Amino acid sequence: MAHVVFVGLGFGGLYTLRRLADDIPEGTRITAVDKRDRFVFTPLLYEYLTGELETDVVAPRYDTLIPSAEVELVQARVDRIDVAERRVVLESGETIDYDALVLAPGSVPAFHGVAGAETHGIPFYSFDDADRLRTTLLVREWARGEQPACVVGGGVVGIELAFALAEALEKEGRIGTGPRVVVLEALEEILRGMSDGVRRMTRRKLEEKGIEVRTSVRVLEVDEGGVRFTNGGEERFDVAVVAWAAGIQPNPLLETLPAERHGKHGVRVERTLQLPGHPEVFILGDAVSYPGRMVGEPLPDTAQAAFQQSEVAAKNLRTWLENGLPREEYHYGHLGDFVRVSRREAVADIRGVVLDGGGASLARRAAYLFRMPDWAIRTTAIRQWLA
Ligand SMILES: Cc1cc2nc3c(=O)[nH]c(=O)nc-3n(C[C@H](O)[C@H](O)[C@H](O)COP(=O)(O)OP(=O)(O)OC[C@H]3O[C@@H](n4cnc5c(N)ncnc54)[C@H](O)[C@@H]3O)c2cc1C
Repeated sequence: MAHVVFVGLGFGGLYTLRRLADDIPEGTRITAVDKRDRFVFTPLLYEYLTGELETDVVAPRYDTLIPSAEVELVQARVDRIDVAERRVVLESGETIDYDALVLAPGSVPAFHGVAGAETHGIPFYSFDDADRLRTTLLVREWARGEQPACVVGGGVVGIELAFALAEALEKEGRIGTGPRVVVLEALEEILRGMSDGVRRMTRRKLEEKGIEVRTSVRVLEVDEGGVRFTNGGEERFDVAVVAWAAGIQPNPLLETLPAERHGKHGVRVERTLQLPGHPEVFILGDAVSYPGRMVGEPLPDTAQAAFQQSEVAAKNLRTWLENGLPREEYHYGHLGDFVRVSRREAVADIRGVVLDGGGASLARRAAYLFRMPDWAIRTTAIRQWLA
């Protein structure tokens, strides 16, 4: 009996698993491993922070998403992959042998060696981070309107987070005199990789919401009470909280693979998403750079790309399990970008058409509804959005 092991049940792993579980090839046993007990729909983490959507939509438990009769679910942290022995080694020392492996462990936050960032900054990557930020804000001065919140990183996550924090403040009725949310970005411009139209519209919305954005800033240190940085000269802000959204880096688990790395990005795989020299290993999501290419622009680290890859990975894995030769190739197709501004507003770039306001917000919700794991979650999301 062929044993398929999934490591990492996010956008890449979970969606591949669910596609395979719809019709499991005969004689196949499946084990799925994740360190968490729930899937996190990261594009909606802001809605969780502002209280617009609840846990059952943003972070549903795996045991509600994975058929327990067909799949053995293991909650454990994987320490390394022994590709030669076809073995997954857990942190506990236990091992799980596989005939085929689907590896999609995603990324981890990058702190870039900034002193105190890891200890005092709160990353915004997981459900636990969102919970921690929500709780921290409730108990610190920010909630009393005395100090601003600082977001380090002016990429899409940092900007959407700044909007969400401003929205939470507005909801509390605490609109003070100075800026209540400050974004610090290392580059000259925010939203790197997005179109000029999206940047322009987003800039306008940031001003409207009273969010201060400082670019070309180098953060030097984060401590419990504030952040020290250079922006021309050296400065310090006393802030209630530092939310860290200054980028990601590949999951350290990838270092245990005999694989070629693509700069600071993921590993090189074939266009079929198989690891070169190890066709029984399928890798997808943030963990891969550009399938089939060794040089050039890597893929964006997005749920959009991982979701698309899950279709190819599931088809090729099925072919592999049926003793065929996987031929399905992955080619990235960029569908669009969204920036959430508030409950009712967004900025969108859909295949080059830039729009903002309510229309963009509806388009964003529709796109995410389509990608939610099942109809029960979609219905709950619609109910919560309408409430
Ligand atoms: C706040 C935020 C907002 C985002 N918004 C968008 C957006 O609007 N649109 C978009 O396209 N993308 C967005 N992204 C990016 C998107 O979330 C990722 O690109 C996507 O999740 C990558 O999918 P993945 O399957 O590679 O990894 P993930 O979805 O991160 O899943 C990885 C899984 O592996 C597990 N794991 C990791 N290490 C181990 C280990 N050692 N042992 C066991 N399990 C492990 C994790 O628990 C996790 O469940 C956002 C990201 C963040 C943080």
